[in-house]
Amino acid sequence: RPGLYIVATPIGNLGDLTPRAADILARADAIAVEDSRVTAKLLHHIGIKRPMIPYHDHNADRVRPGLIARLGSESIALVSDAGTPLISDPGYKLVRDARAAGHAVTTLPGPCAAIAAITLSGLPSDRFLFAGFLPSKAGARTTAIAEVAGIRATLIFYESGPRLSSALAALAEGLGDRDAAVAREISKTFEECVTGTLSALAARYADAPPKGEIVIVVGPPGEAEPASEAEADVLLAEALARLP
Ligand code: SAM
Repeated sequence: RPGLYIVATPIGNLGDLTPRAADILARADAIAVEDSRVTAKLLHHIGIKRPMIPYHDHNADRVRPGLIARLGSESIALVSDAGTPLISDPGYKLVRDARAAGHAVTTLPGPCAAIAAITLSGLPSDRFLFAGFLPSKAGARTTAIAEVAGIRATLIFYESGPRLSSALAALAEGLGDRDAAVAREISKTFEECVTGTLSALAARYADAPPKGEIVIVVGPPGEAEPASEAEADVLLAEALARLP
């Protein structure tokens, strides 16, 4: 059926492509892609060939109106190089304009590094803020960290290997030395998740910047431990007693 299909793709392990995603990619009239070389490999893996339309930060404003015009009669799948489109990747304006034009929009959920990392981290997962990439310049990074310092939630950042140690040190400075986790190469051969305080992790990676793709997960301020089960039972009983 015509419309926009937002299709999550693997973040490492090609086996994580869902059967439904493979089916939609095979049947789409066209696939809007960040980098056609990257998506070509995925399509090759599932044995299909579809027309690809480059849609990335540098051409999106120019390409978008044409894509929107096609949605009335064609099915267009949106993918990014890895993971869930729109999550630190292009796409939200395409969704916005497709909706405004009255076209069908649907999503095929799947891998997302931020969500995968919080599940690995062992940090509280009931409330979290996804903060994307920190700015690379030190001043802007300090400001960005200060903006989230008061938030009572676990924080998730995307980061690159060469910047990891200095980002961890800046986070320790701006947030206090909270518990954290560095999740690397999720779903790939060398997947690892290293936990520790921010300062210990900064020290660990200072002389050995790790290779590969990285997510930093930082626990909430203070009271990092979730309520004990006994406390939770008391709170639940009190809440139930207040119900009409
Ligand atoms: N849209 C993607 C998603 O759903 O996760 C994220 C795209 S963003 C441009 C790429 C960043 O995601 C990487 O720099 C890294 O921080 C993180 N990332 C992607 N794949 C990863 C993996 N396999 N392990 C750890 N982090 C990953």
